[in-house]
Amino acid sequence: MKQRIGFVGLGIMGRGMAENLLKAGYELAAYNRSRSRAEELAKLGAAVADTPALAAQGRDVVITMLADPPAINDAVLGPDGVIEGLQSGAVLIDCSTVDPATTRAIREAAHTRSAKVLDSPVAGSKDAAAKGELILMVGGEESVLEEVRPILDVVSKKIIYAGKSGSGTSLKLCFNLTVAHMAAALSQALVLGVKSGLKPETIIDTFMAGVIGSRFYEWKGGCIMDRDFSTSFSLKLMHKDLNLVMQAGYASGVPLPVAAAVEELFAMAKAHGEGEEDFCSVVKVLEDLAGAHVVR
Ligand code: NAP
Repeated sequence: MKQRIGFVGLGIMGRGMAENLLKAGYELAAYNRSRSRAEELAKLGAAVADTPALAAQGRDVVITMLADPPAINDAVLGPDGVIEGLQSGAVLIDCSTVDPATTRAIREAAHTRSAKVLDSPVAGSKDAAAKGELILMVGGEESVLEEVRPILDVVSKKIIYAGKSGSGTSLKLCFNLTVAHMAAALSQALVLGVKSGLKPETIIDTFMAGVIGSRFYEWKGGCIMDRDFSTSFSLKLMHKDLNLVMQAGYASGVPLPVAAAVEELFAMAKAHGEGEEDFCSVVKVLEDLAGAHVVR
C-alpha cells in the first residue's frame, strides 16, 4: 500500500512537488500558512489541514518545503507544528534550505517522537519542481532513504546520498554558494561589457563556446537581456542562503572572503527593492550604479 503523506509548505517549490505526488496516486494532507494555497491543491484531491500538526497526524511520511529557519521554528518545531503530529516510526523529510543547526534541531525533535528524519534540500527551480525533475541532496540513514525512495523518485530526476544527517544541508549550502557567485559574476560581466560597448549576446555566446559554458549563463543571461525577472527563486531567499553560508563558514572556521562580498551584493539588491523578484535581478543595482543597462 502507498504511504500516506503530509505536506507542509506550498510555495513555488512545494506546490509543484505536492501536485506531482497527488498525480502519482499518493494520498496527501496539505498545510500552508496562507490557506488559499492549500485550498488550490484540494482541487487536485489533497485534504486541507488546519495546522502543520494535523497535516502530520497519522501520516507515514511528512515532507516540509519551507522558506527558512524561522519558518521551521514556526511550522515544524513550534506549537501545533509538525513535530506535535508526528507518529512513531514516521519519516520526516525536510526539503527546505536551512543551516546545519536547524537540521540538527529538527532531528532531535523528531527523535523525541520516535520518528525518522532526512534532510533533503533540492536543486532545480520552479520548472524542475513542476516537472518532477529536481536534484535531491539527502542526509541521514541510508535505510531511511530506501524506505521513502519511491516518493522521492516522483519529485526528482536524481537523488544524491550525501552522508549522515546534516550532509544534505551542508551540500546544498556549497551548491548555492556557487550559484550565487555565478549570478554575481555574470551580472558584473554583462554590465561591464555593455558599458564597454559590447552586445550582451556576444558575451553569452562566448561563454557558451568554451569550457566555462553553462546552461545557467544561457538561461539567466537570457532572462536579464529580456528583462524577465519573474520569480523562479527569489532574491530574498538567495540572500538568506548566503547568510546561512556565512554562518556555516563562521561555525566551522572556514574563511569565505568572496562569499562575503557576494552576500553584500545581494543585500544591496534587496535594499534596492528586488527581494521578491528572481535572484538574477541582482544585476539591476549594478546597472544603476554603472549607468548601463543590459538589453538585447
Ligand atoms: P516560497 O515560494 O517563498 O515558499 C515558502 C513557503 O514557506 C510558503 O509555503 C510559505 O507560506 C512558507 N512559510 C514562510 N514563512 C513561514 C512561517 N513563518 N510559517 C509557516 N510557513 C512559512 O519559497 P520556495 O521558492 O518554494 O522555496 C522553498 C525552499 O526551497 C526555500 O528554503 C528555498 O531556499 C528552497 N529552494 C528554492 C528553489 C527555487 O528555485 N525556488 C530552489 C531550490 C531550493 P506562505 O505561502 O504563507 O507564504
